[in-house]
Amino acid sequence: MVIEVKNLVKRYDRIIALDYFNLMVKEGQIHGILGPAGSGKTTLLDCILGLKKYDKGSILLWGKKMDRDSYELKKDIGVVLEEEAVFEELTLYENISYFCSLYVGDKQKVKEFTKETIEFLGLEDFIKLYPKKLSPGLLRRLSFACGIVHKPKLLILDEPIEGADPHSRKKIMDSIQELKNRGTTILYISQNMDEIEQLSTEITMLDRGRAIAQGTKEELKNMISLGEKISVEV
Ligand code: ATP
Repeated sequence: MVIEVKNLVKRYDRIIALDYFNLMVKEGQIHGILGPAGSGKTTLLDCILGLKKYDKGSILLWGKKMDRDSYELKKDIGVVLEEEAVFEELTLYENISYFCSLYVGDKQKVKEFTKETIEFLGLEDFIKLYPKKLSPGLLRRLSFACGIVHKPKLLILDEPIEGADPHSRKKIMDSIQELKNRGTTILYISQNMDEIEQLSTEITMLDRGRAIAQGTKEELKNMISLGEKISVEV
């Protein structure tokens, strides 16, 4: 198991953001977390990454507990957040290379991985541009590139194509599928049913901090149609 979340509870004063939440992500899966605004997605992400303390429960990554200082675990994780987390004063090339150098010591490898990632996302024509000069779609591709350049074993994506044009969306979606084919485990967090359905092998539906449904696409579809049938019969 790559991610194992058990009975996770996180409160902000009286608000219960995560309410005995459980999640199991197996190696090589794309696991989609689908939930509306305020359902607890960001809180879950922060708890998994060791950025927020939780009140109850446990989180294990590859069987180990994660905290702010878990460098060995962190280098195996790539994160792409909804908001851009790139440096304005660095060019597209320098940004990708910088994020790579945080986890890869060998300078030649940093060059190699940076070049490979730029080609993977079709960013060759934009390497000298600063983020301010990039379109929203190219910015999304740059953020994605910064998250994957060190070849993480686990990729955590929070609304990775939000605001991107159709071409960049397709580039990112195809890259996610390709990374899965290469064996990367992916946690894909989104409010968008179509994206989740298109990519995920397993899905968890999150509502007010609770996992209200969990399973493969087919299992969830059966549950939904069964639910509709029951409500019609009632
Ligand atoms: P969105 O998609 O809008 O980002 P989300 O699904 O990521 O939403 P969270 O941001 O995790 O949801 O919020 C879950 C609940 O916890 C919401 O009710 C939110 O208002 C509340 N919450 C989140 N952060 C805080 C905080 N720092 N202080 C108080 N309440 C918070």
